[in-house]
Amino acid sequence: MSGWVTIAGLGPGDEALVTPEVTAALEAATDMVGYIPYVRRIAPRPGLTRHESDNRVELDRAAHALRMASEGKRVVVVSSGDPGVFAMASALFEALENGPEAWLSLDIRVLPGITAMLAAAARLGAPLGHDFAAINLSDNLKPWALIEHRLRAAAETGFAMAFYNPRSRSRPHQFARALDVLRAACGGETLISFARAVSTPEESITTVTLDEAVPEMADMRTVVIVGNRDTRRVGRFVYTPRSAS
Ligand code: SAH
Repeated sequence: MSGWVTIAGLGPGDEALVTPEVTAALEAATDMVGYIPYVRRIAPRPGLTRHESDNRVELDRAAHALRMASEGKRVVVVSSGDPGVFAMASALFEALENGPEAWLSLDIRVLPGITAMLAAAARLGAPLGHDFAAINLSDNLKPWALIEHRLRAAAETGFAMAFYNPRSRSRPHQFARALDVLRAACGGETLISFARAVSTPEESITTVTLDEAVPEMADMRTVVIVGNRDTRRVGRFVYTPRSAS
């Protein structure tokens, strides 16, 4: 039996948003690896071993998956949303780059999933209908100064933006600072939407102006979408026109 590794995105939460090819990979797997809450989204079944791990050990988790595949196991590494967006796919290739050469001939595939910003944008209408930037606001893997620099550059050049990992208990002040940078760069009338736990029973979506926004509107289950100068409301929807003014 030859092993393989598939890195799969489980989408934002709702079962209906898991793609059929991800479901098929999970059905064929002998082992599943991932951060605890994502692994628990998949029902246990005989023949499938679930390996749960902490959020901060992505490289160990990736190397573990590659090692199991080289031993003949069929391994699915799960991420929420899309595995290539601030998630496990890059960690797996980093482990591949640093691992034994034999791993390079393993059967490795990445299966896309619906990423949080696209699920949120669809709920809102079409806020990302023109050019946009996706920025991870966590400073776990990059300095805060770089985040602020990219945020300001994206805002000043007129990109709409989606922010992942906007605000955690361990760094409550940074998102307040991010809002200040945005107000200065875009103006207080720009629309900002807070989409929390999209496609789960706890979903909530709020749109306000930057002047009305307060840091407490975001947490780690929220993806934040900031419009550009043309982004506007139509009825209960928020959209960005396809042409720039
Ligand atoms: N790979 C994931 C992102 C992982 S980073 C993806 O493609 O969606 C984790 C961040 O994603 C969270 O802090 C939050 O900003 C966002 N996120 C993930 N699921 C979400 C959901 N259902 N609703 C809103 N935001 C979500």
